[in-house]
Amino acid sequence: MSDAIWQDPSQPAPERAAALQAAARGPKDLKRLGKWLDDHGDAALRAALVARGRAAGVELDDDAVGWPGKRLLRRSLGRETEARERHNPIRMDEAFTCVACGRSVPAAGRTARDHCPYCLRSLHVDNVPGDRAADCGGRMDPFEVEVRGHEIAIHYQCTRCRAEKWNRAVTDTDVPDDWEALVRLSSGVLG
Ligand SMILES: [Zn+2]
Ligand SMILES: [Zn+2]
Repeated sequence: MSDAIWQDPSQPAPERAAALQAAARGPKDLKRLGKWLDDHGDAALRAALVARGRAAGVELDDDAVGWPGKRLLRRSLGRETEARERHNPIRMDEAFTCVACGRSVPAAGRTARDHCPYCLRSLHVDNVPGDRAADCGGRMDPFEVEVRGHEIAIHYQCTRCRAEKWNRAVTDTDVPDDWEALVRLSSGVLG
């Protein structure tokens, strides 16, 4: 793609955006072209992608011009929502080593284990619980708990991208969430 039209800033931005979208056929193209957008994409091209996405009925706020290239390109094509729906029913539950406290965490068994039962910290890997579809990968720290009927919900914020989410506390498995850690968190102390 040595002289592809989207690489030529003298061409009209809407045409460059259209050509870039047309070239983004599969996941590999998305990754490669998203990377190109990160390294060389100019503001006019990014704005044109947002405009084309909106024209096609995709909800995109003004921040989208500054998104990572792959995300911007994928979303401008209306594919992010699609991917989320496809991944949604796949709830992954795996053993892992906690990045925060280093302890080995067994799979939960009955539900998707999305945080460490010992220190309660989590990773920003899900868009919806268990889907492992988020690109961020930042550490998520809990900052409050809420009792909801028979469940306890833990409120998280990502230390990298500041996204917030709620996870359910795991209480009914062999290795449940540490009760004292939950109590400390409910009094505003992060252990
Ligand atoms: Zn931990
Ligand atoms: Zn994040």
